Amino acid sequence: MERKLNFETLAIQSTTLEDKSFFSVSSPIYLTTTFERNDDGSYPGDFVYSRSDNPNRRLLEQSMAILENGETGLAFSSGLAAISAVFQSLGPVTHVLLPDDVYYAAKKLLANIFSPFGISYSLVDMSDLVRVKEAIRKETALIWLETPSNPRLKICDIEAIAHLAHEAGAICGVDNTWATPVHQNPLNSGADLVMHATTKYIGGHSDVLGGCLVLKDAILAEKLRQIQTLSGGVPSPFECWLVTRGIKTLYVRVMAQSSNALQLAQYLQSHPKIEKVHYPGLESHPQFGLAKKQMKKGFGGMLSIQIDGNAADALALTGKLKLFTAATSLGGVESLIEHRKSVEGEDSPTPDNLLRISVGLEHIDDLIEDWDSALKA
Ligand SMILES: *Cc1c(COP(=O)(O)O)cnc(C)c1O
Repeated sequence: MERKLNFETLAIQSTTLEDKSFFSVSSPIYLTTTFERNDDGSYPGDFVYSRSDNPNRRLLEQSMAILENGETGLAFSSGLAAISAVFQSLGPVTHVLLPDDVYYAAKKLLANIFSPFGISYSLVDMSDLVRVKEAIRKETALIWLETPSNPRLKICDIEAIAHLAHEAGAICGVDNTWATPVHQNPLNSGADLVMHATTKYIGGHSDVLGGCLVLKDAILAEKLRQIQTLSGGVPSPFECWLVTRGIKTLYVRVMAQSSNALQLAQYLQSHPKIEKVHYPGLESHPQFGLAKKQMKKGFGGMLSIQIDGNAADALALTGKLKLFTAATSLGGVESLIEHRKSVEGEDSPTPDNLLRISVGLEHIDDLIEDWDSALKA
């Protein structure tokens, strides 16, 4: 596919499977596990068995590769299956550097599953380049980034950290779930690998789990392809179809959600009952300058607030909101709110009074009005 086209066009074009039998406009779903062989043993359609490849999965993988400006896309059955494949590629006696507020299940995956196989990890504040440099060890094989981070929306410098990783002979992987390729393309900043929980913005409707990796390097791509097909954590054709359908509207959804999030962040920042708002699009954000330089077209649909109160007050507030459903996850069309500490557990560094908000596609006036009433109550 031509890369000269704009993102919105590419998103539509790259997610459409041509139906040469019936000429349907919407893409068919190839609900099959296996494909017929020729008499000579070859496969006329190039597909063999759906764990290895399937037309709907290939379409999704190629589309993600185009949108993230990579060469290879690899689809998985969840975001964590994609992260797990990355860790599996590292091999024993290696070390992974994680952000100190990394997606909590990624840390748990390393601690509970991979550390017995000889993969160690440490946590560092990725917004502090001096500390990142100091935390690199000779066995460090991977520096993992999340920017904006979860749940405090810290921004880290992808280009600078990718450079530090390469100097140390490590690779740099970026979980780009929150920013989405609309706002940020980490491969363009020198990262080696991009990961998405397509469960979130890419799918966009809170109805399908999925994960994806995108990268440029052919050797690493081949290794990860083997892990994908031999570990078997692959998405079904229908799941791939749902995710590719989500991609078609990704741009308009994310742009509208970012605009809503910025307006909500500005409103909440000026409210006396809100102690702090974490949103990289606010000038008060400590890395506002870096966010502006590194991200494009906005700052995403996620924000966190710290209320003037304790954990119980924060939880009670979620019950007073009518348009924000108290639920985990993010990136869907509906607004969600969550008390992160309750989800992450007592050992989490997340403040007790923090609420994380995934801003949906409702009208911003209704969303602000909802907060206004809830904060008055
Ligand atoms: C949700 C999420 C994941 C994990 O994705 P699953 O599909 O739930 O496995 C990883 N990283 C980030 C930033 C997420 O928000």
